[in-house]
Amino acid sequence: MKAARLYDYDPDMNVSLRIENVQTPTIKAPDEVIVKVGAAGLCRTDLHIIEGVWREIMDPDGALLPYTMGHENAGWIEDVGSAVKSVKPGDAVICHPLRTCGICLPCRYGEDMYCEHGLFPGLGLDGGFAEYFVTNERSVIKLGDGIRPLDVAPMADAGITAYRAAKRASKLLHPGTTAVILGVGGLGHIALQSLKALSGCRVIAIDREPAARALAKDLGADIVLDGGPTVIEEVHDHTGGGAQVVIDFVGELGVENITWRMARKGGQTFVVGYGGTVQVPTLDLVVNEINIGGSLVGNYTELVELMELNADGKVKMHYEQYGLDEINTALSDFKNRKFVGRGVIVP
Ligand SMILES: [Zn+2]
Ligand SMILES: [Zn+2]
Repeated sequence: MKAARLYDYDPDMNVSLRIENVQTPTIKAPDEVIVKVGAAGLCRTDLHIIEGVWREIMDPDGALLPYTMGHENAGWIEDVGSAVKSVKPGDAVICHPLRTCGICLPCRYGEDMYCEHGLFPGLGLDGGFAEYFVTNERSVIKLGDGIRPLDVAPMADAGITAYRAAKRASKLLHPGTTAVILGVGGLGHIALQSLKALSGCRVIAIDREPAARALAKDLGADIVLDGGPTVIEEVHDHTGGGAQVVIDFVGELGVENITWRMARKGGQTFVVGYGGTVQVPTLDLVVNEINIGGSLVGNYTELVELMELNADGKVKMHYEQYGLDEINTALSDFKNRKFVGRGVIVP
């Protein structure tokens, strides 16, 4: 089968993935499923993997490369292990990004992302920038009738990550309060729709790219800002003292230290994008009672909920499609923000 493989890390991103013919995977454990990839979303984590940001965590022995990235996968079941009962070949599925064990205590609490034995196809083992990849039965969710893998693939990670943050935020928001979304890319545009579906709050969307701001307006953002030098004051003016919730989908390039300054007294920030370092004087934390927290991907059940919102037409993924052969163009376009929403690779 064809796969796009990473051979080198490079902080400057001057590397290309190599399109190669590799062995098609086979079932090696009773709970495994092989998925024929219908589409795989391109993620900022993929850029960070190439840059070497994940090297220590994912490749501590330096023996991983070459390998196949791609962790936002949807497609059709191709083959199943002997213990698999809930899906059969031909079923259309979206794949939760983590192969969880189902046995450990966090798994039994439904906290998939805390699984003590989780495996992450696309991060440290072969993923979906290929014609086929392997995951397990616990990770797959059958798609409803008429839902195409292509239309939902990035929801496997970008989607649930945004949805989880929006769901947590919605518990703190009521009509009359405001949430700020920093970065209206692949995640931000899903968070915006999710907040609108879950909460009666107002939403301020901030992005430097005019096309992203236009998308935010289309999706129902109440106020759209361009993230200029006065953006903190603008948010304070529009909200009368700051937002109840600020969700940061950038988390680097200086944005990480704008986020908490936009929160009102007693407000909450959710850091979702990463790469930078948050620096907050303790006096500001205390005087304003700001809560600063992270939000990590999402649970299987959250992906199920998101697929329900998608089936009802309330949350849709905006994407730009590329063939597997065009993956290096897609990576470059992504890095240079040449498309709005998500880039999707179709093998
Ligand atoms: Zn991702
Ligand atoms: Zn587990």
